[in-house]
Amino acid sequence: MGIVWNLVPGNWNFRIAMDGEKRDKGTFETTTENPEETLRLGRVLGEILPPGSFVALVGSLGAGKTLLAKGIAGGLGVEDEREVTSPSFVLVNEYRGRVPVFHLDLYRLETFAAVEGIGWDEFVCGPGVTLVEWADKVEVDLPEERIEVHLQWVSEEKRKLVFGGKGTTGEKIIAKLGNRWKREK
Ligand code: ADP
Ligand code: MG
Repeated sequence: MGIVWNLVPGNWNFRIAMDGEKRDKGTFETTTENPEETLRLGRVLGEILPPGSFVALVGSLGAGKTLLAKGIAGGLGVEDEREVTSPSFVLVNEYRGRVPVFHLDLYRLETFAAVEGIGWDEFVCGPGVTLVEWADKVEVDLPEERIEVHLQWVSEEKRKLVFGGKGTTGEKIIAKLGNRWKREK
């Protein structure tokens, strides 16, 4: 099934440090100055995401995960991206874009078993694009090919975003995102 990497809650920072050592072609880092810019950045990513993509959104409450997800959904052709809201209570929302878009929020989960019950394999292995907030909340296997976005609060209107493309496709996507954002920002 192509799932190799086991994410242990609490080890996330350690892994960021590891990635930082080989900060290379698969990484793109930027700062947004306001919510609208985060939304636009999300749209650019959504436009270039191929079917089957998996995006893990990581960052504390209010970091901008849902806002970025709205933008990504918009870039994927979801007509009213404003409808994209945090799926905390239903676990998953599905939207119709140029491919199905699944939006999950694992914040309230105690264990991963609940996600398996709602068809995790379908999200991960199907042709849709899966966006997962709080992907570090429970112990969960993430696909080898994926995008990780770490969002960090800098100040009231400023956020730092670090994009990591994992796997050969993930690396290419993030390289492309970096180039396009440099031109469009
Ligand atoms: P999360 O899903 O990570 O909890 P949300 O996307 O729901 O966060 O909320 C982010 C909040 O921060 C929104 O109220 C948004 O208006 C605000 N905000 C301020 N500046 C930014 C920025 N540069 N990028 C994203 N959100 C921002
Ligand atoms: Mg959210």
